[in-house]
Amino acid sequence: MASPDTSRKDFPKLKAHIDALKSQGVSVTPDASTRHLHNGMDTSLPPADLHGAYVNNRPLPTEGIANRRAWIIGSGIAGLSAAFFLIRDGHMPAGNITFLEERDIEGGSLDGAGNAEDGYIVRGGREMEMTYQNFWDVFSEIPALELPRPFTVLDEYRIVNDADKNWSKARLLEKQGQIKDFATMGLSKRQQLELVKLLLARKEDLDDITVEEWFSEGFLNTNFYTFWRTMFAFQNWHSVLEMKLYMHRFLHLMDGLNDMTSLVFPKYNQYDGFVRPLMSWLKEQGVNIQYDTIVENLEMKTFGDNRTVAAIQCRGSEGDKTLNVGERDLVFVTTGSMTEDTAYGDDNTVPQLKENHEAGLGSGWQLWKNLAQQSEIFGRPEKFCGNIPGSTWESVTLTCKPSPLMDKLKELSVNDPYSGFTATGGIITFTDSAWLMSFTCNRQPHFPDQPDDVVVFWVYALLMDKPGDYVKKPMPECTGQEVVAEMCYHLGLIDQLDEVAAATKTRVALMPYITAQFMPRAKGDRPWVVPEGCTNLACIGQFVETHNDVVFTLESSVRTARIGVYSLLGINKQVPDIYPGQYDIRRLLRATRTLNNDAAFLGEGLLRRILGGTYFEHILPLGPDEKPEELSRPGLFEQQVQALRDLVEDNRTLEEARDWVKGVLSKLRGRP
Ligand SMILES: Cc1cc2nc3c(=O)[nH]c(=O)nc-3n(C[C@H](O)[C@H](O)[C@H](O)COP(=O)(O)OP(=O)(O)OC[C@H]3O[C@@H](n4cnc5c(N)ncnc54)[C@H](O)[C@@H]3O)c2cc1C
Repeated sequence: MASPDTSRKDFPKLKAHIDALKSQGVSVTPDASTRHLHNGMDTSLPPADLHGAYVNNRPLPTEGIANRRAWIIGSGIAGLSAAFFLIRDGHMPAGNITFLEERDIEGGSLDGAGNAEDGYIVRGGREMEMTYQNFWDVFSEIPALELPRPFTVLDEYRIVNDADKNWSKARLLEKQGQIKDFATMGLSKRQQLELVKLLLARKEDLDDITVEEWFSEGFLNTNFYTFWRTMFAFQNWHSVLEMKLYMHRFLHLMDGLNDMTSLVFPKYNQYDGFVRPLMSWLKEQGVNIQYDTIVENLEMKTFGDNRTVAAIQCRGSEGDKTLNVGERDLVFVTTGSMTEDTAYGDDNTVPQLKENHEAGLGSGWQLWKNLAQQSEIFGRPEKFCGNIPGSTWESVTLTCKPSPLMDKLKELSVNDPYSGFTATGGIITFTDSAWLMSFTCNRQPHFPDQPDDVVVFWVYALLMDKPGDYVKKPMPECTGQEVVAEMCYHLGLIDQLDEVAAATKTRVALMPYITAQFMPRAKGDRPWVVPEGCTNLACIGQFVETHNDVVFTLESSVRTARIGVYSLLGINKQVPDIYPGQYDIRRLLRATRTLNNDAAFLGEGLLRRILGGTYFEHILPLGPDEKPEELSRPGLFEQQVQALRDLVEDNRTLEEARDWVKGVLSKLRGRP
């Protein structure tokens, strides 16, 4: 990508506006949740959460960019995206950018390796979504894998997903392979209220509170929570604040939570699908990468409240070295990694965590801890990496030749798994599994070189300390083949285990920090992207504070990288706040109905009475068997008034709701 070799003074006819914009400054990370959006003299443009073509403007180069260098520590998607934004929006010559990566391959958590003989391995699959605005911005410019230029990864992705909608016909299983009803969320009124309370709660009131502290035990046994925890990998002891942020971020997807119709998936594994094309583009531009290089610490100079990285201390195959960093050079550091210290196993090998597996010894954590020792602006890494049992789970990748397992897979899939189209359509969970095991088979082939008769299949479980129902051992103590046995038991295939085992190769990945980003946290535990006073350092990745975004997504890592680049370079362009689906009344009404098990919610009768037959009729949600012409049918309003009357007369739930509303009102009025 050719960068114009220009500075602002080269545009005399725009100079006045360029100078005005410069002195006015642009808030790089506006927070749409803190103020009422309106138009007026006091509002800057564009609105905080504007998305779409208008925000795709190309900013002008900042002064002296050709003479600045960037060091990017970690080549996961956050690091790779930082390089992308430096080149595209910062106009930095690619040759000025250097990655320092501890491994011998880029991609970090985005992996995909192996072959049909030894077995393929992916530590995870990627459930994705159309409003990954920053992620899709990157991949709308990266040349496609299989289509010729000018087509992009996004173009290719759209062809596959638009033609082949994702859905699941067997989201939940029980009793050795029987499909369990997953049509509704199974939430009682009281449990719905618990969710509403969480949505209404202020973020700052949820420090260090866990999911199980917030919700009742009954809630934790609902379909809703089973969908939720298995799809996003939440544990009961994780942060309820993260759960809240997910609800806001993905509210527009609530009605696809059960059958996974809200999701999109890549054609191949995430390494071939995203890392390979992005890295080829970056290399084509001229970036440098130093593999096998562990960064141990950053030396900083402080001037008053300011802090500037002056040197990077690292260790490589040739020993220790110190890289000097100029005052105007930039450093991007990936603090922490969810896949650090992954232990691997196979058919006959149990994965072994590092012998001295004191929490947080890996290089990503160590670097973050060293920074945190220098100043509290870098947060408290131990809150995330300090509880290995709380943040571990395991996945197993199966490389399968035809066997009874493939026959069962066909039965549970929405298309023939060998057809290239969606197979299971996301994970399928065994609800009565002591490990809480799930499996998925994405579109095949999952690897570009995969033979036609091979299917790649992925299994994971959440509960690591419970003995299995068949193998009677906790999952981390099992070989890959023992995991296959446990799965066959839950699929009703235990009598055919020998046949399945002979046709299946396994590769195991035990990840001690896979959900570290969900551990309970409080204000100040994570650094801001550009911590206060830092002049040339940005923290990127999953363990970084942003206004409203969630963690454990590709999108959030890319967002942090973009914020870092714009902030450090002083680019006059905003990174929009999260997708504003939560403010869309249609989505809100739909989500409310979904959470109410698809039945009309309280007040829907009144809404129908007001809006039925008007232009806005279409915002009203329909029940599963309802037709639009039934919307203005009389009856629901009267029924709901009667239901309300009954509730007022003798229902505890409403009393509680009333007390709670009273409490909120008192709080608002400043009363204790
Ligand atoms: C099993 C699994 C399933 C997932 N599922 C989904 C999903 O369904 N949908 C979704 O959107 N997202 C999903 N994710 C999350 C997403 O993949 C991650 O959030 C994202 O890839 C993290 O990227 P990152 O660049 O922030 O960090 P990482 O990918 O962890 O990269 C960190 C990099 O830094 C390097 N590094 C660390 N310390 C040092 C050091 N001191 N010196 C030099 N190099 C260092 C590491 O080697 C690594 O390359 C999943 C992740 C996993 C692991």
